[in-house]
Amino acid sequence: MRFIRSIYYKLLYIIYAITLKERDCKFPDGFRGKKQLFIYFDYEREFGGHSVNIQDSDVAKILQILNETGLKTTWFAVGKVIEKYPDSIRMIQSGGHELGSHTYAHIAPVRSSRRKLKLDFLKFNDVSLRYGKISGFHSPNGMWSMNMKQGIIKYEFQYDVVSRRVKHNSGVFISNFESEGRKFLRLFTVGDDWPLYRKKPGSEEVFAHFMSLLNKIEDGQLGGIGIHPWVIFSDDNILKGFQQFIYHIAAQENVQILPAGNYASEILEINHS
Ligand SMILES: [Zn+2]
Repeated sequence: MRFIRSIYYKLLYIIYAITLKERDCKFPDGFRGKKQLFIYFDYEREFGGHSVNIQDSDVAKILQILNETGLKTTWFAVGKVIEKYPDSIRMIQSGGHELGSHTYAHIAPVRSSRRKLKLDFLKFNDVSLRYGKISGFHSPNGMWSMNMKQGIIKYEFQYDVVSRRVKHNSGVFISNFESEGRKFLRLFTVGDDWPLYRKKPGSEEVFAHFMSLLNKIEDGQLGGIGIHPWVIFSDDNILKGFQQFIYHIAAQENVQILPAGNYASEILEINHS
């Protein structure tokens, strides 16, 4: 069953790639010689369907770790979280981090009707409006659907973060929403913290897991590493290993770390034609 589903999605994304005239894109010269990394958080609280709950103080703790290293990251928040926990959103933004969309109700576009998605985009826009322009989208389960296109265009999203389904050389590709004269950037994730959950890992193992993700990104290439705050706080060793990883990469000469949106606007800028 799993095998059939994976073939189905592979085919679906090949069809999407053709329909949207996807192409690899040029990178700014400044990308050369360094791994280009963005760290993103899927910020879901109790709306992600997971058993572990987190508090504003946990978010503050993560922000403190990031702040100590000067790293700026991207937070894909569920709209319901923005609505219910506005203080935490203000904390995130005042730390200089980017706010993105993880849908309003944590729904998977690939399994949602066009109507349902339309409403979800509308509600997300309503609750996020006061926090400024939001340009990034990360789909729950990492998969996207053509049904999202209208919402992406209407609310002027510039990029999303997807799991790699079809090979692209540059590690990033552009979808042409041609009839609307728009280009939409798809950034890739190289993985996240899911494999650590329930594993009871030692902190060294956690650190090694994140390093193995980082090593998937070659010099001059761009990739994202995903974090779920609830996974980080599900186990002391995961938190410890995460903290070690953040301190470590912040000090690396060969790694550049920026919010996903910064990369997206820089790349779109030189790929406009
Ligand atoms: Zn999620």
